[in-house]
Amino acid sequence: MDDTVIQTDGLTKRYGRVLAVDGLSLNVPRGRIFGLLGPNGSGKTTLMSMLLGLVRPTDGSFTLFGQPSEKGGLDRQLHRIGALIETPSFYPYMSGRNNLAYFQGISGQGDPAELDLLLEQVGLGGRGGDKFQTYSLGMKQRLGLAYTLLGDPELLVLDEPTNGMDPAGMAEVRELIRGLGGENRTVILSSHLLNEVEQVCDSVAILSHGRLIAQGDVAELLQERGQPQVRLRTTDDRKAWEILNALAWVESVSADNGYLVAGVPPDRSWEITAALSRNEVYVSEMTPAQMSLEQYFLDVTEGEVI
Ligand code: ATP
Repeated sequence: MDDTVIQTDGLTKRYGRVLAVDGLSLNVPRGRIFGLLGPNGSGKTTLMSMLLGLVRPTDGSFTLFGQPSEKGGLDRQLHRIGALIETPSFYPYMSGRNNLAYFQGISGQGDPAELDLLLEQVGLGGRGGDKFQTYSLGMKQRLGLAYTLLGDPELLVLDEPTNGMDPAGMAEVRELIRGLGGENRTVILSSHLLNEVEQVCDSVAILSHGRLIAQGDVAELLQERGQPQVRLRTTDDRKAWEILNALAWVESVSADNGYLVAGVPPDRSWEITAALSRNEVYVSEMTPAQMSLEQYFLDVTEGEVI
């Protein structure tokens, strides 16, 4: 079985003078939760829309499940994809379950048992009979996910699925998405939220102004680029900063959310403790730390704001 679900080659979309997607060559591996990360306007929706045949590329090509997209190739593969681009459209006066039944009917596969399983899977088991218009935003979005899962597709394409949600709703939807990826299902998730991609995705492509800046396994990217770090709290962080800054073997010292972050390999932690205590500063907490996706993003985009 082919291990690449999508491969794009120089994929480009121009809207008049706007180059929305600029010569993108990327690989989406099978069975991964693949994040498309980029600021607003970086081309994520345009890219997804091209992959779904909603927008025609200006240049370049792509394959889907190993098949070229041209000459009707894409149409033959679309039944293997579930997609949620922007806010899902459902009938407000119909129940969640009837909305799903309606779309199931359109797809021509009508097993009612599937609807109950899907409602259960997205946490709407008890509310499937309620009208869509009575749902919270989180419930609407979860019904949208149930819709994408109709027919058990191999690929899910989700565009900013937590957009506009409160933190609790976001956490629920993220948890749900994490459970949707697997050996037989690939998920492409676009987001401009760094922590969302870090929490949910295992592979990522970073877009900026329509260009691909980096792609790969999230953990590997962070490891390759990130120097080893430790996070610590002390009895006197200001003094600790000065002491650590003066040590030649400490690569960097910064502050992050009430912690000091020192660029040293974790196996030298004891030397930090020793150096600080010689100066009567004592460590209250110390853990090895990895570069965050946010630091990585700032690094590769040279300070672009997301
Ligand atoms: P967002 O997160 O805000 O949706 P995005 O990363 O998905 O952003 P796109 O929506 O793909 O980015 O937009 C990329 C660029 O293409 C933007 O400059 C946008 O204004 C432009 N664009 C997108 N769709 C069209 C269109 N139909 N006509 C003209 N320009 C467009």
